Amino acid sequence: MKVVKFGGSSMADAGQYRKIRDILLADPERKVVVVSAAGKRFKDDHKITDLLYLCHAHTQYGVDCSGIFEMISSRYIQIRNDLGIDLDLETEFAALKQRIDNKELNADEIASRGEYFSAKLMAAFLGFQFFDSADWVKFNFDGSVDQESTYEALQNQVVQGIGAVIPGFYGLMPDGHIRTFSRGGSDITGALAAAALDAEVYENWTDVSGILMADPRLVDNPQAIPEVTYDELRELSYTGASVLHEDAIFPVREKNIPLNIRNTNEPEAPGTMIRERFDGDSDPHRFITGITGKKDFTIISLSKRGMSNQVGVLHRVLTILVRHNISVDYVPNGIDNVSVVLPTESIASKLYTILGEIQQEVEPDTLDVHDQIAIVAAVGRKMAYRPGISGKIFAALGEAGINIRMINQGPDELNIIFGVDNRDFKAAIKVLYNSFVSM
Ligand code: ASP
Repeated sequence: MKVVKFGGSSMADAGQYRKIRDILLADPERKVVVVSAAGKRFKDDHKITDLLYLCHAHTQYGVDCSGIFEMISSRYIQIRNDLGIDLDLETEFAALKQRIDNKELNADEIASRGEYFSAKLMAAFLGFQFFDSADWVKFNFDGSVDQESTYEALQNQVVQGIGAVIPGFYGLMPDGHIRTFSRGGSDITGALAAAALDAEVYENWTDVSGILMADPRLVDNPQAIPEVTYDELRELSYTGASVLHEDAIFPVREKNIPLNIRNTNEPEAPGTMIRERFDGDSDPHRFITGITGKKDFTIISLSKRGMSNQVGVLHRVLTILVRHNISVDYVPNGIDNVSVVLPTESIASKLYTILGEIQQEVEPDTLDVHDQIAIVAAVGRKMAYRPGISGKIFAALGEAGINIRMINQGPDELNIIFGVDNRDFKAAIKVLYNSFVSM
């Protein structure tokens, strides 16, 4: 059995519902369907979840939200009418509006209704059972998921064999109130359903044909990554854009269930398969899985003669940063020098105070700050077995006239990370992509 989750753009209108039905018909194992609220149909369209939050905000300030509510209800009613489904939504919408106007519902309860109506409609369209997430996803008071009772509730209630449609994004608090995950959280609901039901695979259907090897805003038509491990994915999403909610990984990873990112608009494409490890090598010529990066880092570098023989210099620097509640991303070092690399926005307002404290408490010989630094990471589980990769990376960058400001490699050799000036960021990603991927 496969658990399949469809994101907002896959649920945006009647045409998308039909695509989903075809995807399910193509594989009878696709039995448990988790859905998001309706997303954007076109660039400047609204997401239903955004409108629901907006409705709540209006009523909080005593402003009538009827206009916004009408945009929400009419979207679902239009989908229903276009698909010719026999389902009374009007009564439920009227009751919901009444409760919103009476301020009976909090923001989470209102926001959750997007997924609720999506699932109701999809269940009616497919002839599947509607299974409310308020009846199985159980939160603890601290907002974490009570995994054991959540899994048990789903196992006991989903009738295996008959298809089920489940709304994503929300569950129930111990006091009976609805609570949502953070934005994008329907991915988590799908992962919990897959884990609870020991699915053969968790398919996450979205509007891209998998995780791309590089950001399409930086590289023209980047290829999708066919296979990526959970560890690589973590590296890739730390510095780059992510297609998945990060909390969606844990439940499936723990149960060793593969996660497949697929495209509703291009269902034949295999997408990206994510697993703990891959046996064999489906593409021996490729040793970089993806290239990612982020701009706007600051490097604080200090040197102190004889530092390598002194105990506690680095400790003192890090203690100062801890005192200011700043987390450090990378700590490249030499014999008598060390640098700390951190996002500029985390340190900007406290920079001079921190430099003053380093000067006083560490007494370095030199203390320098470089900002406008971009971090670029080449990620690949196979790099560890290939000598000479960093040499090739740096040669390619050198030929393109890109100056490298910092180099770092994780101990597991899963990535090679380097810093360049912000203005060289795009060129660095392009050079790497062109030298190593589109060979
Ligand atoms: N609808 C929610 C959001 O827009 C959750 C989701 O789609 O995953 O964040």
